[in-house]
Amino acid sequence: AKLAGKNCFRYYSRAMDHAVERRLHLEQELRGAWERNELRLVYQPIFRTRDRMLCGAEVLLRWDHPVLGAIPPSLFIDVAEQSGLIQVLGPKVLRAACEQAKRWPRNAIGEELFISVNVSPKQLRNGNLLQEVESSLLGSGLAASRLHLELTETAVIGDEMLAVSLLEKLHRAGVRVWLDDFGTGFSGLSHLRQVPVDGVKIDRSFVADMERDADDLALTTAIIAMAHALGITVVAEGVEQEAQFELLSQRGCDLVQGYWLARPLDAPGLVSLLEQGSMA
Ligand code: C2E
Ligand code: CA
Ligand code: CA
Ligand code: CA
Repeated sequence: AKLAGKNCFRYYSRAMDHAVERRLHLEQELRGAWERNELRLVYQPIFRTRDRMLCGAEVLLRWDHPVLGAIPPSLFIDVAEQSGLIQVLGPKVLRAACEQAKRWPRNAIGEELFISVNVSPKQLRNGNLLQEVESSLLGSGLAASRLHLELTETAVIGDEMLAVSLLEKLHRAGVRVWLDDFGTGFSGLSHLRQVPVDGVKIDRSFVADMERDADDLALTTAIIAMAHALGITVVAEGVEQEAQFELLSQRGCDLVQGYWLARPLDAPGLVSLLEQGSMA
């Protein structure tokens, strides 16, 4: 038994070393990945429920490593956040996305699309976000009202004083702010009154279970009603089936995003979708 215990310990400790080594290796590889052109941006279309018009897109980062292949964002974004690399990558994504959005044609009814950019909690706290936003807008020539920032609910609620003053400054600059993964940190509902946000993105997990789970449906319905009472836009993400789209549509959800409507596309793919007439 002693021996087994020992072996067991060694096994776990080796497994842990391995995981740590792997992350360190990823971190080293991620440094300079942008310069080596291994990182690219894709754009997932966002549609208005009412008229099914393509009206914006969320930019998502992709990493194609020459040896390891495609690395999931959930993994490398986490590595980038833990290592602080996100402070370098985040502004690059922001700038490149603004430049891309500036080139997009208008949609079928003549509207300019918005671009929605994920901002990590680290970027929110390093004190440079406002300046980075302003220089990306100035450098790209994109109108501020076309830029949406997605901040996670927990990042904003975690430090309300900082968040409120920063969000107010962003507002004054003309940028829109959305709370991402909304509903996962349940505190959000009551905090919506205090934090100046323009929209909430209902987390994918609610949308996925809506049809089977009465609680998730009730919560989704409540989020939509309450957001609307406060004059806030509601986006649902992870819409994979028509039935989910219909449920959200009936409840007045303003915008939808998900595989049923469109997968994330490269820049030419988004432009050709726009040129097709942009109906879902
Ligand atoms: P997120 O912000 O919640 O992004 C939405 C994720 O859901 C994306 O995964 C998207 O591809 C996926 N998705 C969209 N529609 C569907 C659907 O119908 N079904 C399913 N199953 N999934 C759907 P992705 O691209 O793997 O990104 C994962 C996370 O990585 C993002 O979650 C975001 O937190 C982070 N991330 C990605 N790009 C960036 C970035 O440029 N900056 C920062 N800070 N985070 C990023
Ligand atoms: Ca997001
Ligand atoms: Ca999300
Ligand atoms: Ca559930």
